[in-house]
Amino acid sequence: MNQYDVVIVGAGHGGAQAAIALRQLGFEGSIAIVGDEPDLPYERPPLSKDYLAGDKVFDRLLIRPESFWRERGVEMLLGRRVVAIDPEAHEIATADNISIGYGHLIWAAGGTARRLGCAGNDLRGVHTVRTRADVDRMMDELTQVERVVVIGGGYIGLEAAAVLTRLGKSVTLLEAQDRVLARVAGEPLSRFYEVEHRAHGVDLRLGVAVDCIEGDDRVTGVRLINGSVLAADMVIVGIGIVPAVEPLIAVGAIGGNGIAVDAQCRTSLPDIFAIGDCALHANAFAGGMSVRVESVQNAHDQAAVAAKTIAGHDAKYDAVPWFWSNQYDLKLQTVGLSAGYDAVVLRGNPARRSFSVIYLKQGRVIALDCVNATRDYVQGRRLVVDALSPSLDQLRDENLPLKALTA
Ligand SMILES: Cc1cc2nc3c(=O)[nH]c(=O)nc-3n(C[C@H](O)[C@H](O)[C@H](O)COP(=O)(O)OP(=O)(O)OC[C@H]3O[C@@H](n4cnc5c(N)ncnc54)[C@H](O)[C@@H]3O)c2cc1C
Repeated sequence: MNQYDVVIVGAGHGGAQAAIALRQLGFEGSIAIVGDEPDLPYERPPLSKDYLAGDKVFDRLLIRPESFWRERGVEMLLGRRVVAIDPEAHEIATADNISIGYGHLIWAAGGTARRLGCAGNDLRGVHTVRTRADVDRMMDELTQVERVVVIGGGYIGLEAAAVLTRLGKSVTLLEAQDRVLARVAGEPLSRFYEVEHRAHGVDLRLGVAVDCIEGDDRVTGVRLINGSVLAADMVIVGIGIVPAVEPLIAVGAIGGNGIAVDAQCRTSLPDIFAIGDCALHANAFAGGMSVRVESVQNAHDQAAVAAKTIAGHDAKYDAVPWFWSNQYDLKLQTVGLSAGYDAVVLRGNPARRSFSVIYLKQGRVIALDCVNATRDYVQGRRLVVDALSPSLDQLRDENLPLKALTA
């Protein structure tokens, strides 16, 4: 049986960063990363942006080249799925029956794309966007595709719609709620993106529910609850993820919709950490509520905390959340978590395609969404970190730089 001082499950953003951080901290023990995808760790955000658009080749997505891992003695066990954990014996088992022993285990398994529960969800031509393989399959079909229906008006669905429109496809986007981005942003941002997508030719439909996907072998259309059918050669489902946590939950780790971790990213099981999309943690920027944050920032910063703790340093996860999304020529930068806001300020004019939405809770700034407004994003960060309480008029006043409110 192979034995390593640290075994990392998941060769994604968090897993890669945990190994990088351990070596940067001078950790000299043995490290292995076990990942079920065949590829070295790569950046996931371009999958719905430059990579889908054909603007970036896969090699440019790699987080580090193969030589980096070799030179630092990080063993890559790829194409292997971990299916069981024995926390007492400090062992994991893969689907191909390999047992691997660990001193510390870092669970960085992310999540799988949530699939539709309705009939036809597994027809050819129905795609999700989580892995390189997902997007490669989609791209292989694209030349044969004219009409695409995107289900889900979250960031991934919107980004895919933007790329496919640019590629000349006829795109319909269906959102069950009455606005896009309803789960993550305030109404001004939702309405702005709705206008943009429509202006770029997306047939955006709000408040619609899908009944089933139609087709014999391959998808031919999407039937809505109201009985109408939208013809489609391809369907892209962007309705969130299911955190990959089963092997840990099966052996009693506390959690459910994610693995519960403390401020050092330790799970309730001895010597097992969890980080990234699958880690349910009390986030100071969510008022201490337990949340899973699906972002590169969160995966990276939690990886650093787990690595420091394993290497014997003091560490605590309290990083300010940030995120970005690229659609058309629009760069959205977000800082903070807006969930639970009770007031919203619009700073700037969406018609000029450069503005910020500022969220407050009980008078304190909790988040900013900045569209083509990097200066606000950079200067507004302090407002969130220090939970400052400028007046709404001050925040609204574009002539007043946000840094003036943080002095
Ligand atoms: C299309 C797309 C666009 C995105 N855009 C942005 C963006 O613009 N900005 C941003 O901040 N974030 C973005 N994200 C989110 C970001 O990519 C994730 O938050 C980040 O990848 C989380 O890192 P992670 O290490 O937790 O999980 P992942 O990067 O998903 O890595 C987990 C890895 O573990 C593997 N795995 C799962 N189960 C097992 C198992 N049992 N055994 C072995 N391996 C396993 C998975 O296959 C995967 O390779 C995007 C995500 C997607 C899919």
